[in-house]
Amino acid sequence: MRIGHGYDVHRLTVGRKLILGGVEIPFELGLDGHSDADVLTHALMDALLGAAGLPDIGALFPDSDAAYAGISSLVLLRQVTQRLEQAGYALGNADVTVIAQRPRLRPYIDAMREALAQTMKISAARLNIKATTEEGLGFTGSGAGIACHAVCLLEPLEDRKEQQHEK
Ligand code: MG
Repeated sequence: MRIGHGYDVHRLTVGRKLILGGVEIPFELGLDGHSDADVLTHALMDALLGAAGLPDIGALFPDSDAAYAGISSLVLLRQVTQRLEQAGYALGNADVTVIAQRPRLRPYIDAMREALAQTMKISAARLNIKATTEEGLGFTGSGAGIACHAVCLLEPLEDRKEQQHEK
């Protein structure tokens, strides 16, 4: 097995949608960035790529490339999933922690897990997502931005061959 960690931050701003884990969340602010700025999916992708020993998303999907302007991060996650398969790995499990003072994210957690799991063609049981605040401290506490940490374990694809029941 191989372990990976990903971390990302995006600034909250007016006039942008708030997309987390591929789900649009009603809020007066959204995350700023070149793509849809889905900080959760970005942290997850960097954990997956790191575990596989592949370049990070900044190298694979540079923000200097117009092809990625406004793109759904789920499209990028699909490409990352394909790269993992090519490298001979499948996700064992991932655990993701989003740090946001507002809005309250718990009502959207299951929808995020489903969106990410469908994109990766795995069971949502392999993906855990938690949300926390930092008690009003720091840039997440002031509402300046949202941060996300992700850790994951990758397993060799060949170990999965007896697990065909998974979609
Ligand atoms: Mg990012």
